[in-house]
Amino acid sequence: ATPTALMVGTGRGAQLGILIKGPEVLETTRTVDTVVLDKTGTVTTGTMTLLDVHVAEGVDETEVLRLAGALEHASEHPVARAVAAGAAGRVGALPVPEDFANIPGLGVQGIVEGHAVLVGREKLLRQWAIELPAQLARATRDAESAGRTVIAVAWDGEARAVLEVADAVKDTSAEAVRRLRGLGLTPILLTGDNAAVARAVAAEVGIDEVIADVMPEDKADVVKKLQAEGRSVAMVGDGVNDAAALAQADLGLAMGTGTDAAIEAGDLTLVRGDLRAAADAIRLSRKTLGTIR
Ligand code: ADP
Ligand code: MG
Repeated sequence: ATPTALMVGTGRGAQLGILIKGPEVLETTRTVDTVVLDKTGTVTTGTMTLLDVHVAEGVDETEVLRLAGALEHASEHPVARAVAAGAAGRVGALPVPEDFANIPGLGVQGIVEGHAVLVGREKLLRQWAIELPAQLARATRDAESAGRTVIAVAWDGEARAVLEVADAVKDTSAEAVRRLRGLGLTPILLTGDNAAVARAVAAEVGIDEVIADVMPEDKADVVKKLQAEGRSVAMVGDGVNDAAALAQADLGLAMGTGTDAAIEAGDLTLVRGDLRAAADAIRLSRKTLGTIR
């Protein structure tokens, strides 16, 4: 590889909004055959909105929003931001939690106005042996099959409500998937969210393969497993949760709009957070190598 040809490649990359860590990165683009795409913040905008609230019998919606909003206000997760903003918009000022803990991939827990509050996946509630009443379970299934993320709210040992949040698929994602396929790559959608939501998003952008319900610490293992099957894996992600998977992948592509942890772990940064740049990066690298050979 002549240094000059590589410099031309990386200079053109900068114009396209692609930052490459070093010339050695280009070589791996030749072999990648699979591209794993994180859902939230990568394929979707990651800006979620609180759409709907379903309360259990006898539960006051305002109290649900006050307690859930108070806890989520302390978290930076996109789901948490949606709940906190939606709650504040509907009920005004939120109380300050007396205690707060973030549980990665599951939700948040803490004390608000003397209540022990949980906000997160149904799985988080189950860890505390809390079940959703039938009516909330039904609302959850319906919303999930419509592609919405459902967050349960419980306090003092009882499920009180479920909240529907959703974010939009980026308008560039479907074209990006087409371009990645055009380069001979098989796309896979990877998410900590549930399978129904993941399938709805995948269908919207033209992805057939979905790996859902993956805990943050297991994302790198998913990549490792694909590699063990003999695949050469590119991973695109934005979150703290994606950092280990980005490092494990043969080629890690970080969204420039994402977290510092992801950007540090990636080989390549897509500055504008436009997934089409992932395809551009691979095409450009291959082309650059082509001029060298
Ligand atoms: P992704 O893999 O899509 O980027 P995460 O692994 O960060 O998502 O989270 C997986 C799921 O855990 C979310 O879809 C959400 O249901 C739940 N979750 C995580 N953090 C929170 C939170 N602070 N509040 C509510 N739910 C949460
Ligand atoms: Mg993400």
